[in-house]
Amino acid sequence: MELQDQRCIVTGAASGIGRAIAARFLQLGARVAIADLDESAAHKTADELGPDGRAIGVRMDVSDEEQVSAGVAKVVSQWGGVDVLVSNAGIQIISPLEELAFAQWKKLLAVHLDGAFLTTRACLPHMYANGHGKVIYTGSVHSKVASHLKAPYVTAKHGLLGLAKVVALEGAPHHVAANVICPGFVRTPLVDRQIPEQAKDLGISEKEVVRDVMLRETVDGEFTSTDDIAEVAAFLAAFPSLALTGQSVVASHGWFMA
Ligand code: NAD
Repeated sequence: MELQDQRCIVTGAASGIGRAIAARFLQLGARVAIADLDESAAHKTADELGPDGRAIGVRMDVSDEEQVSAGVAKVVSQWGGVDVLVSNAGIQIISPLEELAFAQWKKLLAVHLDGAFLTTRACLPHMYANGHGKVIYTGSVHSKVASHLKAPYVTAKHGLLGLAKVVALEGAPHHVAANVICPGFVRTPLVDRQIPEQAKDLGISEKEVVRDVMLRETVDGEFTSTDDIAEVAAFLAAFPSLALTGQSVVASHGWFMA
């Protein structure tokens, strides 16, 4: 498997899963734009992961149309095109539905769904011009199942499945594939932040949140790792045909079995 000279954009790549995907793509020979809301972390990550200049940091709030256009334009002006988009940036908001502020609902959908739409729309013309491309969305087991306290997240992650299927259909004549990776719980800052919040909302200890809520349905009580998800992303990015398009790949230690 190799991604030699593939021009990749990974959003939310200054942390967690996105960072691991960027690192794996670089190992496989790709050039990777580390696109993140946190501009200084994006540049720092690019310096750390790609000291030979194959990684660049890009400021991008994926929910901001102008920033997405400018960020993708920067990558295209530097490298001449885009071959792979990993739309991965995400946030979590934990709240019972009846207490959730409308602004919080809209904020989460903006990052996950507007972000996926805007980055896809900005990259597709370059992929169509190349005559090939891969679009990969970071969904979740929450693209398949629901959990308490996560209404906007579950809604957004289900929505990505629909978007991927449309991109698969419309992209096919241009040899552009679109797929969704659905991770189980991965120990990243996004998850670390929600453990105490869930413990408070559910009235249980943090240890119980991990054992009885997050990992209860897995086959082995294990977290999925960032490296596991990076490996799935590399597989999808390097897959040679459209046999694999419009699909979702669940990597969750058996939490969800299709
Ligand atoms: P993380 O908090 O470690 O990293 C998220 C990154 O996204 C951060 O660098 C942050 O600055 C960036 N970001 C946030 N809002 C942004 C915006 N508007 N524009 C651009 N960048 C933005 O989180 P993570 O766990 O690595 O999550 C990455 C993706 O994986 C998310 O889509 C998340 O929903 C998904 N996911 C995570 C888990 C998990 O258990 N950690 C499981 C399933 C899916």
